[in-house]
Amino acid sequence: MKIRKIVFFLIIFLVLFFPLLAQDYNNTTIISVSQNPQAIRKINKLNLDILMIWQGRIYIICNRQLDDLLKIKKANIAYQIETQKFYPFSNKDANLQGSINGPYHTYQELENDLMTLEERFPDLAKLYILGQSLENRNIYALKISDNVSLEEAEAEVLFIGCHHAREWISVEVPYLLAKYLVENYSRQLTIKNLVDHSQIWIIPLLNPDGLEYSIHFYRYWRKNRRNNGDGSYGVDLNRNYSYNWGLDNEGSSPNSFSNVYRGKSPFSEPETQAVRDFCLTRRFQALISYHNYSQVILYPWGYTSVPSPKNKLLEEMAAQMSELIQAVNGRFYEYGQAGNSFYLTNGDTTDWALGVYHIPAFTIELPPVDVLHGGFFNSGEDIQSIFKENLPAALYLIDWSMKNFSEQFSNSTGTKGEKNKQRKNLTIFVKRDKK
Ligand SMILES: [Zn+2]
Repeated sequence: MKIRKIVFFLIIFLVLFFPLLAQDYNNTTIISVSQNPQAIRKINKLNLDILMIWQGRIYIICNRQLDDLLKIKKANIAYQIETQKFYPFSNKDANLQGSINGPYHTYQELENDLMTLEERFPDLAKLYILGQSLENRNIYALKISDNVSLEEAEAEVLFIGCHHAREWISVEVPYLLAKYLVENYSRQLTIKNLVDHSQIWIIPLLNPDGLEYSIHFYRYWRKNRRNNGDGSYGVDLNRNYSYNWGLDNEGSSPNSFSNVYRGKSPFSEPETQAVRDFCLTRRFQALISYHNYSQVILYPWGYTSVPSPKNKLLEEMAAQMSELIQAVNGRFYEYGQAGNSFYLTNGDTTDWALGVYHIPAFTIELPPVDVLHGGFFNSGEDIQSIFKENLPAALYLIDWSMKNFSEQFSNSTGTKGEKNKQRKNLTIFVKRDKK
C-alpha cells in the first residue's frame, strides 16, 4: 500500500510539478526514453520537464534554451524524438463548440458574468478589483455574503482559480461555485446558512494574461506574461509566493526559460502581489487553490517532506473532501502532503498560507486523472460534472471555517455566544442531482 502510494505520488509529481510543456512549441522537442531505473536516476539529476510516463517510456519536453537535449546526450541516455506525435491541440479541443474555447470563459466573458452576478444579486454578491495584471487586466474577487456591503464578524474563506494559464477548468469551478451560492441562497436552507454566517471570497482568474495567451496563441501556456528581458516570458505564479521562496532549485527554477521559474524575488509579480495585499486586509480561515490535472488534493508542506505542525488536521480535512467528492460522481481524488514525494515545490500558495497565516490551505488538482484522459483538456461537457463533484468539498470548507471561527470566539458571552452555538450545529447536507 505504501509503495503504491509512493509510486502514485511520484507519477503525480513528475507530471504536475515538473511540468510540462515548455515555453513555446517551436522551441521544444518532445522525446521519450525507456523507463528503467538507470535512466530514471540520470533523468532525475537533470531537472527536466517531464510530460508523462506512458507504456514503459518517460516523455520529456526538451527546451532549446535550456539545452535539455544536449544534457540528455551528454548523460548518455538513449532517446527517441516524439514531437511529431504531439500537437498542442488535442482532439478534445476540436470538439469545443461555439468559439475558440467553447463554453470556457475568456477574460472578457468572465468579467461580464461576474458583473451580471453582482447585478442579479446585489445583496449577496459584490465585485472587487484586487489589482491589475502585467497587461492591465483586472484581477477580480467576488465577495459573497448576506449584507455583502458590510464588514461582519464572520468566518472568511478564499477560493482561487487559474494560477496556471492552461488549466482552464480551474476558472470554471470557482466561478460556478459563486453562481451556485447566490442562485441557491433562497432555495436551500443549507446554502443560506453558509452565506449568512460567512464571507466567501472567490478569485476565479488570477492569471488573466496567461489565460488569454493560452486561448489565442499557445494552448499549453502555464506562467504569467512577464517579459523577462532575455527572450523568455513568464513567471510561474505558483512559485512566486514568499514562504521559503527559492529555497532550492528543485522546488522551483531560477532559470527564466523554465516552466517553474520563480521570478526575480518573492511576490515580484502583480498577480501574486494582489493576493498578498488582499490577504493582509482579511482574516481567512481556510483556502482552496484550484488547478488541474490529476484528481488529487494536496496540502502543505510542499517544500519539504517533513509534516507540518497541522498535518493531522490537514489530512483529516483532505480525506473528508476526497470522500465528499467521490460520493458525487464516483471519481476518486487521491490526497496527501504535497512535499511527501520525489519532487518538491517552493513558493506556492498553500505553503505561504500555512506558513504565514497558519491556515489550512489546499491545492485541488481537478480532473482528468492523467494525460491519457486528456491532460489539461476537459471537454465543454465536462465542466458541470467537475463542478458538481467539487461543490460539496467547497461547502465543507466554508462550514469548517465557520466552526473554526466560532471556536475562536466561543468564550464570548451574550448573544454572540448564542449565535456561535447555533453556528456550531450547522452541518453540510448537499442535495445531489441524480444523473
Ligand atoms: Zn497548476
